[in-house]
Amino acid sequence: MYGLIGKSLKHSLSPQIHHLFGNPSYSLFETENLEKLLQDYPWKGFNVTIPYKEAILPYLTRLEGAAKETQSVNTVLKQGDEWVGYNTDVYGFQKLLEHYQIEVSGKQVVILGNGGAAKSVKYVLNQFGAQTTTLARHPLDSSEVELNSLDTMPFCDIIVHTTPVGMYPGNAAECLIDFKKFPKATIAIDLIYNPLRSSFLLEAQAHGLTIINGLYMLVAQAAAAHGLFFHEVVPTEIVEKTYRTIKRQITNIVLVGMPLSGKSKFARILSQSHEKQLVDTDETIEFIARKKISDIFETEGEATFRRMERNLIESLYPSHNMVISTGGGMIEDDLSMRRLRQNGVVVFLDKDVENIASQTIRNRPLIQSSKDVYALYERRLPKYIQYADERVHIVSDTKTHTEEIEAKLHEYFSH
Ligand code: NAP
Repeated sequence: MYGLIGKSLKHSLSPQIHHLFGNPSYSLFETENLEKLLQDYPWKGFNVTIPYKEAILPYLTRLEGAAKETQSVNTVLKQGDEWVGYNTDVYGFQKLLEHYQIEVSGKQVVILGNGGAAKSVKYVLNQFGAQTTTLARHPLDSSEVELNSLDTMPFCDIIVHTTPVGMYPGNAAECLIDFKKFPKATIAIDLIYNPLRSSFLLEAQAHGLTIINGLYMLVAQAAAAHGLFFHEVVPTEIVEKTYRTIKRQITNIVLVGMPLSGKSKFARILSQSHEKQLVDTDETIEFIARKKISDIFETEGEATFRRMERNLIESLYPSHNMVISTGGGMIEDDLSMRRLRQNGVVVFLDKDVENIASQTIRNRPLIQSSKDVYALYERRLPKYIQYADERVHIVSDTKTHTEEIEAKLHEYFSH
C-alpha cells in the first residue's frame, strides 16, 4: 500500500505524479486519526504532509539521510518491522535549483517561514554555499528575524517562501512581505504550486523578479520517494516529462483581447487540442442572467455587468484545466486579472485594430463606431501588455495563428 497521508488532500497532484512514474496504486488518505490509519493498512511506504509531518515522528524507528540532518520527514518506508523516515523535499528543492539553473553560492537568501519545508530549503541552501536569513512569524531563536519587525534587507538576492499563506483554498490571501524592502532581490521562489502563481509570486513578478513555483520540487521529491519505495532511480528525463505533463494539464489558458479579436474561436480550438474545459465568460453571464449582454448594459448598466464578471471570476479562478475566453473589458479589472493569472497563462490576441474597426459591429455596447474601437484599444493596450504572458498579432488566417499560439504555449509549458 502506497499513498499520501494528510488531513485535506482533495486537490493533491501526488497520485497523478506517482501514476506517471508507474505506481498505479498510489492513493490519497485523508484522516483525523493518524494512529488508526497507520494500523488499518498494510503499508509499504507513504508520504506524509500537513498536519502530520511532526506527528509521524514518534512512530518512526529511525531517520535516514537528510531526514536525520533536518529532523523533517515527508516519506516513510516500511523495512521489516521498522518504520524508517526519509526527507525527499531536500532532493526536490535541490533539483528545482538545478532545473532553473539557480546559482546560490555566495548569495544572500531570505527564507520566509520556519516550518518543516523551511528546514529542507535551508539545509540545501547552506550546503550550496548561500548565506540564509529566516524571517518568521514566531522566530525559534535569536538567529531568526521576526516578520513584523522587518525593516529593509538591502543585500538579499533571492527570497524563498515556505509558508502555506496563499495556498489553495486560501488563494486570496495577501502576500506576507513588501518587495520594496528587498530592492536587490532578483528571484522569488514559492514552494506553493496550487495556485501556480500565488499572491507572493504575483507580487514578486509585479516588482520585476523572476518567479518560480513549487511544482518542479513537488515532482522531484515524488521521484525520490518513488525511488525509495521501489529501489529504483526515476531518470531525470521522466521527472522533466512528468513536470511538463502536469503543468500543461493544470494550467488554464486565458484569452484576452479586444472585441472581435477571435477569442471565442481560438478558445474553442485550444480547448479541443489541450482537452481542457471551455469557459466563455460572456456566454456564461448571458446564460446565468438569461439576457444578452447588450440588454444587461441597457437595462441594468455597465457596473452591474462588471460585477457579474467579477463574481464569475471569483468562483472560477481557483480551478484548473480550463480555456477561458474573457469578455473584452475584463482586462480593465485588475483584481479579476490578478485572479486569472494565478492558475492561467494569459494570451493576448492582438488583432490588427484597423481590421476590427473595419468590421460591421453589432451588439457591442462599448463600440458603436470605428472611432470607439481606436479609443478603446489605446486605453486597454497598456493593460494587455501588463497582464499578458504571451502576445500574438492576429493579422492573417486562423490556421497560421493557431500554430503560432500552440508554439508559444508549448514553449511556456516547457519551462
Ligand atoms: P509547516 O511545517 O506547517 O510550516 C508552516 C510555516 O508557515 C511555519 O513557519 C508557520 O509559522 C508559517 N506560517 C503559517 N501561516 C502563517 C502566517 N499566516 N503568517 C506567517 N507565517 C505563517 O508546513 P510545511 O510542511 O513547511 O509546508 C509549508 C508550505 O510548503 C506548504 O504550502 C506546502 O504545501 C509547501 N511545500 C511544498 C513542497 C513542494 O514539493 N513544492 C514540499 C513541502 C512543502 P508558525 O509556526 O508561526 O505558524
